[in-house]
Amino acid sequence: MEAHYAPGDADAVMVDAASAPFVSGVEAESEGRWRPVDGKEGRWAIPGGEAKGAHLRWAFDLASAARFRRSGVRAFGSGFLFRPRSWLLRPEIFLPGRAARLIVDTPAGQRFISGLGPGPTFQTRVDDLDGGPEAAIGPMRVARFPAKGGVIAAIAPDGEMPLTAKQEARWFKSSASVLETAYGRLPLPWTAVFLLPVGQGEGILFGSTRGGGGAAIVALLGRAITDQDLTDDWILTHELIHTALPDLDRAHHWLEEGIPTYLEPLLRLRDGRETPGAFWADLRRQIPQGQPRARDEGLDRTPTWGRTYWGGALFCFVADLRIREASGGKQTILDALRAILPAGGIATHGEIRDLLAMGDAALAKPVLLPLYDAWATRPETVDLDAHWKTLGVAQEPFDENAPEAPLRRAWNR
Ligand SMILES: [Zn+2]
Repeated sequence: MEAHYAPGDADAVMVDAASAPFVSGVEAESEGRWRPVDGKEGRWAIPGGEAKGAHLRWAFDLASAARFRRSGVRAFGSGFLFRPRSWLLRPEIFLPGRAARLIVDTPAGQRFISGLGPGPTFQTRVDDLDGGPEAAIGPMRVARFPAKGGVIAAIAPDGEMPLTAKQEARWFKSSASVLETAYGRLPLPWTAVFLLPVGQGEGILFGSTRGGGGAAIVALLGRAITDQDLTDDWILTHELIHTALPDLDRAHHWLEEGIPTYLEPLLRLRDGRETPGAFWADLRRQIPQGQPRARDEGLDRTPTWGRTYWGGALFCFVADLRIREASGGKQTILDALRAILPAGGIATHGEIRDLLAMGDAALAKPVLLPLYDAWATRPETVDLDAHWKTLGVAQEPFDENAPEAPLRRAWNR
């Protein structure tokens, strides 16, 4: 690795403590000569201090790091999957928003693909090198799936994959199209999806999404994936929905998880891949897990699993209902979420109140911010049974004479 640090960037550089043992041979260049730089516990002082800037080089032992889970480096076929913070000596103290430019040279036959962009040059911010998305290096197969507003890239390591290229294309095209229809475009110009076979289990096992300067999704794949697994898959859509919302402070993680938890089945209903009967039965069965329990202190202060995923989904459901009620069914939660896209999606950080106000501005009447103010720090129990009755979904067959049956029949809009 070789890096230039501008004057004023920092007087020391660092890596995570867990990956420090894999950094070696740190040297600084001065007047054409390289000299060793002494470091301790993942921190190296820049010779001459910050005013001079620096030109450093070092080696990072990816293969050894990949044997230690905490290093953040994982094997990816015969290559590696990692986050910039694992191997990049980043300024210890920096001004937020300061620009950083990464240029990556890879040996022949190898590629470097990052959530920051298609590369090989990456324009980013120093902050995003600290918290940014995954990248991979090695021999890889990259398939690009363009849709309005951007590209979703499927990145597979070399070696045997549990799904065929044809299956992969069908899976990605349908997920991209679901997102395109719901939001009007892909949230980000570039979304890297790393497909990581883990050699155990069946089907699509797990997904995670990370932003900060870009977006990367890591999808863990089981030993075998059938066509049915792909038809039933909710994980890729859930993760792609994450890319539409800026990264929020930890207290608001419930909104980050609540939106995809509520939206993914709704998009399946819109797409005709889910029947209204199954949609409402699932919602009725699952969403009570989001109700406050004893000692609840409101969504911002109760980070339990139920309140994070289903409490957030409950917030979205009630917001969606109020939006549909206030507009006579002309608007839905998607109108509000589309209005939040210009904030920059998960590539940026956002303030929850600003984002909810952006969403409200697109609505006939503000819904999101008032609901947030009511629920953020107080336990509000929703009378779900009353809603099921009014919507006519309290029992099957549905009650077509219920007061809000017309709204419910148009829920797939
Ligand atoms: Zn999620």
